[in-house]
Amino acid sequence: MKTFQNWSGDVKSSPKEWLFPAEEAEIIQIVHSAREKGNKIRVIGSGHSFTALVHSDSILVSLDRFSGVVSVDKEKLQATVKAGTKIHELGKLLWAEGMALENQGDIDQQSVAGALSTGTHGSGITFGSLATQIRGIRMITASGEPLECSETLNADIFKAAQVSMGMLGIITHFTLQLVPAYKLHYHASKTTVKECMSQLTTLKQNNRNFEFYYFPYTEIAQVKIMNETQEAPQPYGLANYLSDMVLENGLFQIMSTISKYVPGTTTGISKLAGLGASSASRKCWSHNAYPTARLVRFHEMEYNIPAENFEEVFREVKKCIEKNRFRVHFPLECRFVKSDDIWLSPAYQRESAYIAAHAYQGMPYKEYFGALEQIYHRYGGRPHWGKLHTCKSEYLSQNYPMWESFLKIRRRLDSGNIFLNGYLESLFL
Ligand SMILES: Cc1cc2nc3c(=O)[nH]c(=O)nc-3n(C[C@H](O)[C@H](O)[C@H](O)COP(=O)(O)OP(=O)(O)OC[C@H]3O[C@@H](n4cnc5c(N)ncnc54)[C@H](O)[C@@H]3O)c2cc1C
Repeated sequence: MKTFQNWSGDVKSSPKEWLFPAEEAEIIQIVHSAREKGNKIRVIGSGHSFTALVHSDSILVSLDRFSGVVSVDKEKLQATVKAGTKIHELGKLLWAEGMALENQGDIDQQSVAGALSTGTHGSGITFGSLATQIRGIRMITASGEPLECSETLNADIFKAAQVSMGMLGIITHFTLQLVPAYKLHYHASKTTVKECMSQLTTLKQNNRNFEFYYFPYTEIAQVKIMNETQEAPQPYGLANYLSDMVLENGLFQIMSTISKYVPGTTTGISKLAGLGASSASRKCWSHNAYPTARLVRFHEMEYNIPAENFEEVFREVKKCIEKNRFRVHFPLECRFVKSDDIWLSPAYQRESAYIAAHAYQGMPYKEYFGALEQIYHRYGGRPHWGKLHTCKSEYLSQNYPMWESFLKIRRRLDSGNIFLNGYLESLFL
């Protein structure tokens, strides 16, 4: 029996069957067969979610063999893609057609469906989460029938399906709105928290993509910005390799191991990481600019809060870490995202800031994440669906105005709950 383990290693399960359909007809057959036998189905992307979204002791379906671009419309700048396509594959395929995603997150290992279905986002105040790029969805629902939806076709289902964590059916295709292929100039630099805060509005408004990292127990912030450039892409040189692989991964892995086994070193290691935060610069095609290597494994919690509250929340978070002396040496990642109208998107109807906290695999994190969660909840924080949180359905229903509407659509499409596992039942039943 093949055992599933997610990226962080926290979620493990042994599905009765792990299936890899290559054709839509096979996917339909899997749904019919599961219904007849009373089995449940979870769909897996790349297994990068930290929460138990794809935990399954019944049927686990992977669309790894169902990938690629089906068609492109160069006039509308749209493409219809198979849901199992990995984001890194998609980037190359679109580039070959002279097109690109308008924005991405900081890795590209996810499947398109997995990333879109959890509200995955990048950073930049003019961009919504990746799911805002969806123009059409085709999925196989619990009846075994294909269902198509868009802004004009089954529009209520569309708003529910854009971020739906595999609860409405197995998504087979997305039609995505794209932009002409573009190059980005990436620049990372070190500054102080005070300077970063005083320049926050300018940094957000004057850069296409802006985010910053804050190193706990220091006053150091690392600012990362990206802007479009017409200049030629540069080869990935030694300087970038040293910054990405040696400093941010190799050396950080060693420091993390010391922090884990020698508790008294953690704050010092955070300071060292801050001091060593590298400056870097490169120019490349967009699909090569967004992703970073993430070789050091961690637990992660990320919350969406209203952008207008960001500075006070950030100050509280910083103080909370310092006061409680949590054993944390990973920087906090702060990003900014445009509001959208997707029912279960954390950025639903609000300009948003995201704060992500990480803890090295095997180090204690529950008390740390729990303390931050209490702060976020006072500001109506909404958790990233793919990242750790302790929210119950009562809290979520109060913070998602379209919660009940989503539940109605879910019940309508899957009255037998075949697309729910225990974790999702605890939140959505
Ligand atoms: C190192 C790392 C870096 C990350 N960086 C970012 C980031 O920059 N920004 C951000 O927002 N998030 C980030 N994430 C979170 C990540 O993007 C999400 O957890 C995403 O859902 C993972 O995609 P996946 O393909 O692994 O999906 P999985 O985790 O396998 O699945 C996610 C959800 O999608 C559903 N799903 C998958 N395929 C289908 C389908 N065909 N039909 C219907 N439902 C489907 C699953 O059932 C599940 O509910 C990061 C995670 C890690 C581990």
